[in-house]
Amino acid sequence: MNQMPFPHLFSPLTIAGKTIRNRIMSTGHDSTLPTDGTINEAYIAYQESRARGGVGLIVLQVSAIHETARYSSHVLMATEDRCIDGYRKMAIACHHHGAIVYGQLFHPGREIMETADGLAPVAYSASAIPQDRFHVMPREASVALIAEFVAGYASAAQRLEAAGIDGVEIVASHGYLPAQFLNPATNKRTDQYGGSDDNRLRFLQEVIASVRNATGDQFAVGLRISSREMDEQGLSLEATLAACKTLSTQLDYINVIAGTSASLLGAIHIVPPMTVDNAYLASDSKIFKDNLNIPIFVAGRINQPQDAEIVLSKSEADMVGMTRALICDPQMPAKAKAGLFDDIRACIGCNQACIGHFHRGLPISCIQYPESGRELVYGFGEVPRANTPKKVMVVGAGPAGLKAASVAKRAGHQVTLYEASQQLGGQVLLAQKIAGRAEFGGLATNLIRECELAGVEIKNNTKVDRLLVQQQQPDVVIVATGAKPYTPDFENHGDMQVLDAWQLLNNDEPVGSNVLIADWKCDWIGMGIAQQLAENGHNVRLAVNGICAGELLQSYVRTEMTATLHRLGVEVIPFMRLFGCDDDTVYMQHTASGEAVLLEGVDTLVLSQGHLPQSALADEINDLTEVHLIGDALAARTAEEAVFDGLNAAWNL
Ligand code: SF4
Repeated sequence: MNQMPFPHLFSPLTIAGKTIRNRIMSTGHDSTLPTDGTINEAYIAYQESRARGGVGLIVLQVSAIHETARYSSHVLMATEDRCIDGYRKMAIACHHHGAIVYGQLFHPGREIMETADGLAPVAYSASAIPQDRFHVMPREASVALIAEFVAGYASAAQRLEAAGIDGVEIVASHGYLPAQFLNPATNKRTDQYGGSDDNRLRFLQEVIASVRNATGDQFAVGLRISSREMDEQGLSLEATLAACKTLSTQLDYINVIAGTSASLLGAIHIVPPMTVDNAYLASDSKIFKDNLNIPIFVAGRINQPQDAEIVLSKSEADMVGMTRALICDPQMPAKAKAGLFDDIRACIGCNQACIGHFHRGLPISCIQYPESGRELVYGFGEVPRANTPKKVMVVGAGPAGLKAASVAKRAGHQVTLYEASQQLGGQVLLAQKIAGRAEFGGLATNLIRECELAGVEIKNNTKVDRLLVQQQQPDVVIVATGAKPYTPDFENHGDMQVLDAWQLLNNDEPVGSNVLIADWKCDWIGMGIAQQLAENGHNVRLAVNGICAGELLQSYVRTEMTATLHRLGVEVIPFMRLFGCDDDTVYMQHTASGEAVLLEGVDTLVLSQGHLPQSALADEINDLTEVHLIGDALAARTAEEAVFDGLNAAWNL
């Protein structure tokens, strides 16, 4: 315990004359916290939380270098001097807690969805080659516009240096503008910026040189690049490595990632979901490290310090990006350094509240740690002591109840958590059984650990009723009794086997060969069950009451699950509302046309039709004491809302 548990992870690294205290990096990621193109208090507090927790290097979210790079109303703009004040405050806040701070210089090129006010943007790229994912047709940038871009990178770097930021990273990853110049599939130019390898490299060389010329020796200049873009039209490892060999003499480091924004398949790697292996890009960064003489950084599902230490000890990289691990637990570096491994709230790769919020235009957070992104409300991890400690009964040990119990106990209340069954975790225990979702079980593990650390008294196998509440005489009861599967009214005129999703996940009954899943919710459950049944040899149709399977899921999760179902031969039928069934036919209604659809040859109908809150206890006891209803017991939603409800109820006791 007295020995440094991670000697490689906690060794310093000096870049451009400044020493980074350890090898843990928060990579550049959108927070959706800025609102007017500049750094605000919410974003400073968000990053300050990570700096306080011991991270070595914080790379800020992208800073646009030209007006044509403004891809949303939340992007930071480094195009005018008015940005400097915010960067200065950010640098001071993070430096105060020992972190080094870099910015990212960014132009998306054709990878742009919208302007700040919702109009379709005029996109510029190396050539007029259409983009798959956002359906954008860019204009070819003129030589004069290219010169503006190059100057924009330089002046943006100058502003960040003037603000006291320690360096910048030029974003050439994920098929963004510099990669569009590099890639022969997107660069068809015949001038000095296209054609030969040297010409396609010219834009990046000019950008790096302009940034170098505009800044001092103690200002780090790095490059972020996808080792491979994971798409047929994307850059290969050979191509990016060859480019980096030429560029590396001008750079302080290269930050390796993978994928491209340009296609659904490639975009999965922007924020890879839980089905992707931990540290899966370390073999790529190793190739860069073996071929180049500058520090190499890597990211990609490095969630735990143990994994990071292995990457570093095998000389696969010099710095590890652990972004979601830090969103989920800003204190992770400090806990790792202290050897408190079991106390680390490990990221489960669900993508729901981090990148998922960004894609919905919402501020960043974490389903396990809703305090993330809400630092101005909930601070930096401390729970304020209650003025009047209360006796609190929390009923139900799912995500809502576990979070409520741990936060209430930390606030100084006398807390007992009651669970009717043997095991704690509520619906997480079922969710982790869904194909490809085993890591989701970490949510229960982490929340149970938080209760243990807080010292919550836990009584399992204990059903709470009116009598028990009368006996205990609590000041407050927090009811977190969850939900049960909802079965809609439908005409069932035969002997077809009908199961709900919970029965299927619990293996309650054998299932027929030909299965139809009626999926109202369009989330993980229907898709996961379809995968599980298809992998077990069943003939599966997934009829979804939406425009596509997984309509409500974060897009990278949806793409990855859709690909799996496609490979398994699952037939997905959109726009389907359940109407009825007989012996072997399920009757659906097409939700767009209103017409009947008959799906024949069905042995088993599986219902994934959402959930109904179980809140009877609240009605039973609300004349006895103060009652708060939270989580699915209040309204059946997801684990994210359940954990947030738990935090909010306990915080406000
Ligand atoms: Fe990790 Fe999920 Fe939290 Fe994102 S929301 S940081 S993926 S646990």
